[in-house]
Amino acid sequence: MIHGSEKLIFEQGRAGRVGVDVEDVCLIELDAALPEELRRGPLADFPEVSEPEMVRHYTRLSQRNVGIDDTFYPLGSCTMKYNPRMNETVAGMKGFAWLHPAMPVSETQNAFRILWELEQMLKEICGMDAFTLNPVAGAHGELTGLKVIRAAIRARGEKRDKVLIPTSAHGTNPASAMLAGFTPINIEVNPDGSVNLEALEKVLDENVAAMMITNPSTLGLFEINIKKIADMLHAKGAFLYCDGANLNALVGITRPGDMGFDVIQTNTHKTFSTPHGGGGPGAGPVGVKGELTPFLPYPRIEKFGKDSYGNDFFIPMTEGRSIGRIHSYYGNFLVLLRAYVYLRTMGARGLREVAEAAVLNANYLRVSLRDVGYRVAFDRPCMHECLITDENMPKGVVTMDIAKRLIDKGFHPMTVYFPLTVHDAMLIEPTETETKETLDAFIRAMGEIAEEAKAAPELLHDAPHVTPVQRVDDVDANRPKNLNMKWEVFCGICS
Ligand SMILES: *Cc1c(COP(=O)(O)O)cnc(C)c1O
Repeated sequence: MIHGSEKLIFEQGRAGRVGVDVEDVCLIELDAALPEELRRGPLADFPEVSEPEMVRHYTRLSQRNVGIDDTFYPLGSCTMKYNPRMNETVAGMKGFAWLHPAMPVSETQNAFRILWELEQMLKEICGMDAFTLNPVAGAHGELTGLKVIRAAIRARGEKRDKVLIPTSAHGTNPASAMLAGFTPINIEVNPDGSVNLEALEKVLDENVAAMMITNPSTLGLFEINIKKIADMLHAKGAFLYCDGANLNALVGITRPGDMGFDVIQTNTHKTFSTPHGGGGPGAGPVGVKGELTPFLPYPRIEKFGKDSYGNDFFIPMTEGRSIGRIHSYYGNFLVLLRAYVYLRTMGARGLREVAEAAVLNANYLRVSLRDVGYRVAFDRPCMHECLITDENMPKGVVTMDIAKRLIDKGFHPMTVYFPLTVHDAMLIEPTETETKETLDAFIRAMGEIAEEAKAAPELLHDAPHVTPVQRVDDVDANRPKNLNMKWEVFCGICS
């Protein structure tokens, strides 16, 4: 069984041992009140452990987590930046944490004010005319943005049904296009990573609803022809959609709205610092330009005159040509609150420094990793992430070996084998929150791995060596039917 040296909780303790004695408290009365047919027969096989055994078990397991609070986490495309504790402190305040969205609007004015002000800041940062904060993830924002585009196209009386997507795009882009009822069409990228304009020209007709572009792209490169692409699409009456997951490279320097984008989803859990990973809560606010505004989902927070004390009054509106609700109430309020605190504490100058440092750090890695023996996929200045490959490594040493060996050196691996258009890709995003010392330690580790690849490749093939679970079979791990995910009691009674 693969669970390292930590036994399952069911395998610990001893028959009859209990953590808490609840018998005297209320179970007897409860027992009497409960109708016969609802009572459990034989007791389930609960673990029989003492409270300290239980606490130690889960504490040990929690220490096996790897996160941004333990180590450098350069997972490309994910923007694993440090999340300031200030955000957590504010999100934990009773006045926020205990709010219920069904409370009277007049009693939750300051929550609405925060949402409204966050919308204003996002409009300014992205160069858009209106924002909705309701979507709860980047991919959810993509779906929302595309549904808004679809509604606007239908309102014009048109039937456009194609969405163009460069082959380097994140997998969520074609998936969202399908879910929104469009047909995704691939557009080739050039050897330098930019969108191939001839390929675009060929398929661009009156049936195209939109093109989705990630800028900077998932190759970590700025789309140099963005203005031209915007003009081509607009000339045909189509919309330009920005997958804004990579906004960290641009904040405070340039604005997607100014590049000609009509819609953008932002990933607050990436750019605006909320702990994420493992499917935790996020937020994917969507910004749009003028024509699309009436179709945004509701509720939309509006500033509605003043109350009797002269304070601004905010109300959630539900009318219009909106696509309707895409989530309960107002989205993930506490995630949005963290983004708000982050933006207020950074300020305009701080945000610009975020992008500057993120790009500087990525370029420092690009040049330094090249110097220790890795091939850089596109050797020109990158944005917030750099892309290398295993091409210069000895035969037999592959991307996965390098990534796994990094774990032994104390780092979370980079993103591997993505984007799909680059063979054996390693996508590295340092973010702005890392010091030069950390980056240098990472470069040293990568240099050591390049040396080991020549001198002792088996060290890489068998890595990781320091973890409770060593190299897993990636293929089998993706086939649930080959995995035993269930603990069973192996005893005489059951078998
Ligand atoms: C992370 C990411 C997404 C998806 O965002 P989620 O919040 O995980 O749904 C989409 N596109 C790109 C380029 C991303 O990096």
